[in-house]
Amino acid sequence: MSGATTAASGPAVPGTGPLPPGATIGILGGGQLGRMSAMAAARLGYRCHVFAPDAGSPGMQIAAATTVAPYEDEAALRRFAAAADVVTFEFENVPAATLAALAPLAPCRPGVEVLRVCQDRVVEKEFLERAGVPVAPWRPVRSPEELEAAVAAIGLPAVLKTTRMGYDGRGQAVLRRAEDAEAAYAALEPKPLVLEAFVPFRAEVSAIAARGADGVAAVFDAVENRHRNHILDVSLAPARVPDAVAATARGHAVRVAAEFDLVGVLALEMFLLPDGTLLGNEIAPRPHNSGHWTIDACLASQFEQHVRAVAGLPLADPARHHDAVMANLIGPEGLAAWPRVVGDGRLAAHLYGKAEARPGRKLGHATRLLPLGSLADLAEADITAGL
Ligand code: AMP
Repeated sequence: MSGATTAASGPAVPGTGPLPPGATIGILGGGQLGRMSAMAAARLGYRCHVFAPDAGSPGMQIAAATTVAPYEDEAALRRFAAAADVVTFEFENVPAATLAALAPLAPCRPGVEVLRVCQDRVVEKEFLERAGVPVAPWRPVRSPEELEAAVAAIGLPAVLKTTRMGYDGRGQAVLRRAEDAEAAYAALEPKPLVLEAFVPFRAEVSAIAARGADGVAAVFDAVENRHRNHILDVSLAPARVPDAVAATARGHAVRVAAEFDLVGVLALEMFLLPDGTLLGNEIAPRPHNSGHWTIDACLASQFEQHVRAVAGLPLADPARHHDAVMANLIGPEGLAAWPRVVGDGRLAAHLYGKAEARPGRKLGHATRLLPLGSLADLAEADITAGL
């Protein structure tokens, strides 16, 4: 599914043609996803203006222009919009009101509707079902009584989650016995909550789809993800699953992008059941940690596809030229591994410039490239060797 398509040329009227070289992409959010997007934008001759509440954030360190202000600062948002030819975001918890305020002032890609869906697990599940992606049985939980009814309907074990602001395993609790329900309900904030069946998955899989302003999609190979302490630890590209499963995973991601009428990239995280069924878990409407391998194993990374999409350029061919294993560098342990990682000339080493190495924080990643087609035969012990 190549992104090769016609490139409109001519004047850069917002929304009607590709941004010309030197144009400015406004990025809401200052984290590593914005940083790597800005690096990709620079490669294509664009400037980035990063808007975030924290000075010195990873994205700001490499941006051509920065605004340090709260997301609610309307005057700062107006100035930001005036300085940007297009606005995007690098994490989905930017307040929807912020994007809604910017929308009349500058083209916003993706749009505010995408944020609204991805900020609420209940709306997101309904959306996935509408897009034809099956999800685990679930019930909304707005009261202890609803939780009791949901447990009766879904059974145990089950996972109770906040509907908003959850990430990296925060805001969720596994219920194994009926007695767990009361304490979990009391502890999880903010309400409302949602109860999901516990999925006995064989693997966690994700697929990243890009979709251009012309509606053409390009999807990277599906990958297999391993988590540690609920945080992504390692991604294997490609996922070691039957071809039909990989094709379904990629198809699901493309369908979700089309259902949104997305201009940008999204990651769809899925659970693979022992019988080969894929259940949708979460949508990240932006570049995603499980796509970092694309920087080194593809012609154009997920970040470049994102920039190409929001800038109105045609997408690049998403084909992989190597197999890849990506490992995150997390917390003090990850920082301690950095000299070894950067000193190993066979690894692609990435560090995000974060000031503090707090536990659980993603500080960088390393990618090992392998000959195309060789990952499937690699022994388990060799998969993360050297990473
Ligand atoms: P989430 O924040 O929904 O992405 O969940 C974080 C991680 O918790 C997932 O990547 C899974 O490893 C695990 N998890 C979440 N929901 C479920 C579920 N319904 N069944 C089993 N494991 C889950």
